[in-house]
Amino acid sequence: MDARDLAIPADAGAVLVVDLDAIAANYRLIREACSGAEVGAAVKADAYGLGVERIAPTLAAEGCRTFFVATPAEGVALRGVLDAAEIVVLNGAGADGLDLLAAHRLSPTLNSLAQVDALAGFGGGLPNAWLHVDTGMNRLGLGPAEADALLAEPGRLGGAKVSAILSHLACADDPGHPMNAAQRDVFAALRTRFEAALGPLRASLANSSGTFLGADFHFDLVRSGAALYGLNPSPGDPNPMRQVVGIYAKILQLRAVDTPMTVGYGAAHRVAGPRRIATVAAGYADGYPRAAASTEGRTMNAYIAGKAAPLVGRVSMDLITLDVSDIPPADAQPGALVELLGPHVSPDALAAAAGTIGYEVIGRLGNRLARIYRGGPA
Ligand SMILES: *Cc1c(COP(=O)(O)O)cnc(C)c1O
Repeated sequence: MDARDLAIPADAGAVLVVDLDAIAANYRLIREACSGAEVGAAVKADAYGLGVERIAPTLAAEGCRTFFVATPAEGVALRGVLDAAEIVVLNGAGADGLDLLAAHRLSPTLNSLAQVDALAGFGGGLPNAWLHVDTGMNRLGLGPAEADALLAEPGRLGGAKVSAILSHLACADDPGHPMNAAQRDVFAALRTRFEAALGPLRASLANSSGTFLGADFHFDLVRSGAALYGLNPSPGDPNPMRQVVGIYAKILQLRAVDTPMTVGYGAAHRVAGPRRIATVAAGYADGYPRAAASTEGRTMNAYIAGKAAPLVGRVSMDLITLDVSDIPPADAQPGALVELLGPHVSPDALAAAAGTIGYEVIGRLGNRLARIYRGGPA
């Protein structure tokens, strides 16, 4: 996308552009990689910060029928957007939360025997539950002893119906890690034992990265999140996904500086000669990571009309400063748009500069950004 096509609202300093057609294309690419397994979508945390109200219908229009959220409140919000989809609440609910799940036809995840007992005591009226078994993550789900206890006494579910079993991979982004095959084998064995006790179950193990580990990780349904939003599911290889997110911010001011001047907080950037500095209307309050600032060994760039402009000085709450000495002055004027994320800067690259992961960068984009959605279902 070209920043020159963008009409950024006059009252905003920076805009988040979400390409819904890229999300649709990423959904189709994952479906092709799955050869037959269903592709469900993780849309927790407001679809990784990008806006579940627009993204969920885009995925539904591509044929996605199963959606995963973290909390009951996220499930309620999603039910307001999608009437027909199966919505799975990954954190599950205790006895005090099951009424809400029933009222909005949300599927509970059973992560513990306490949640099993609460569901058994609830007495019906809920969609089928998903049983989460922990195969090595040691985070959520029934551990081995709890799984054995439920297998020994399946009647503990009362009349509650379980239609699916899931687990989560700890090291899927590292294809060579021995935990991947170990978790897969533990999961397959647990599925067999639970099917003997409870009848047929849909099985789901893979997140985005797990999907790209191969067909023996797909089972019946994969749960993709990050790859739908354009993050690289296989960090060691070129990214097969289309980029979804762009951030463009306005230049507010330009100034000429020369030795021995410094730029920004802490006088952290000392110029070595005459330079032109552009002050840009986005900062860490917009989700641009403070830790991404250039360091002595690493230059972080933004792009103006496709040309690199190094970030200099510290990232402030509302502002960043760029060295635009090498950009034609006609391109770097007040009001011109700077690409902070876009064709030249991926969320994964910005995250790497800041010592974090793309998930955190897109998940923490600020509410102050104006939002523009491109494409999507008619
Ligand atoms: C978030 C989440 C996913 C999706 O993970 P990605 O790495 O974003 O594809 C899948 N399963 C569970 C249990 C999750 O919490």
